[in-house]
Amino acid sequence: MLENFSSPYDATVVRLLTEAGAQIVGKANCDEFGMGSLNTYSIHGPVVNPHQALNSTVPWTERERRSAGGSSGGSAAAVRAGLCDTALGTDTGGSVRLPASYCGVVGLKPSYGLISRWGVVSFADSLDCVGILGKSVSSVERVFGVVSKYDPKDPTAATIETRQKASRACIQSMDLWGCGEGSGPLSGLKIGVPQEYFPAELNDKILTPLRTVLDGLKSRGATIVSVNLPSTPYALSAYYVIASAEASSNLARYDGIQYGLRVDPPPGSDTRKVSTVYSHTRSKGFGPEVQRRILLGSYALSADAFDNYFLQAQKVRSLIRSDFDRVFKISSPLTATLRGDISTAHGPAKTLGVDVLLHPSAIRTAPLLPNPDTTGSKESNDLDAYVQDVLTVPASLAGLPAMSVPAGLGEDGWPVGVSVVGQWGCDEMVMSVGKVVE
Ligand code: GLN
Repeated sequence: MLENFSSPYDATVVRLLTEAGAQIVGKANCDEFGMGSLNTYSIHGPVVNPHQALNSTVPWTERERRSAGGSSGGSAAAVRAGLCDTALGTDTGGSVRLPASYCGVVGLKPSYGLISRWGVVSFADSLDCVGILGKSVSSVERVFGVVSKYDPKDPTAATIETRQKASRACIQSMDLWGCGEGSGPLSGLKIGVPQEYFPAELNDKILTPLRTVLDGLKSRGATIVSVNLPSTPYALSAYYVIASAEASSNLARYDGIQYGLRVDPPPGSDTRKVSTVYSHTRSKGFGPEVQRRILLGSYALSADAFDNYFLQAQKVRSLIRSDFDRVFKISSPLTATLRGDISTAHGPAKTLGVDVLLHPSAIRTAPLLPNPDTTGSKESNDLDAYVQDVLTVPASLAGLPAMSVPAGLGEDGWPVGVSVVGQWGCDEMVMSVGKVVE
């Protein structure tokens, strides 16, 4: 749809980076409109995961063609291959964290609203975040420091006041690390491991790196507790309903008239009917996955299906949010502001609460890129792609900061990532724990 479209202006994130002296060296491949988990829905072809090429003595003819993950697979592969120091991507439901995990780099999805979305193509506004990929947590942190700014052009940007409130509460909480009952520099840090993040689909060959990370944190004094986030199993379905519904509305602007591709109806058709331009343009300009999302989303928003799908998904979304709020030590500054109850926003810390959550970033290491000759039906591939997001979408639905950090290699020799998730606005805390993990 946007093949020959060149934007006449830069996104706020790009402007902030260039003003700070960064060089933008290229645009990276991704799934069309950010829809995908394996980078297979791109007009340019899939990104091949560079891990084996960089790390092994396997002759190139015998290397596995594994996915770099999606949708921001090009950004993760570029960082991993050393083509750039850091890269931006978008994370609506996991598109920065999943490629980071598959490629063995760090990927941060910030708190929703901290980084401006102005100038970024919209997929699902209530979920879309600009994310940052880098080789180390400190490189990601450096970019975050430049781009995490209030932008009046983004109506969903968190206000300066809300940012300050959240950061004060996090700093207060982090000041207590090292002052807990146990010994070690992290003795006040409490980490929750959510039991629901070990679903049946999880491949247990990736568990050893996670155990090593938990043992390391424990030996430095952190307390590890098991927590429950009971609504997690419904998150994936809710995500796909909400994301598709918002996408169907956002993508209505690609009509062949305002900008992007235009396909005129064949000679002889009634050109006075705008709908023929619409349908020809949209049938030609959108790939199959994007068309599928538009259909699914339009259906979920239709009068007959609204209550059963869209409304239901919104209810699940608020259950997911309250699951997280129940387990975190710090209350959400957003909920408190909504209640008009600012004074209790960071009231007495819940002693049972955790500072951050830790879980595997993905259910497996990078999958092989689909080969239509050998990998069964097309439909089963599409469903497999949706399942890859099962561990990343809950933080997206709740708008929380989440970062995937490389944790070593799985039994198959491919990278495994673990994710650190914090309360809204606790991005610095998430990165601090990430530094201990890496
Ligand atoms: N894989 C998810 C999807 O296809 C997430 C995409 C994203 O975060 N952009 O919707």
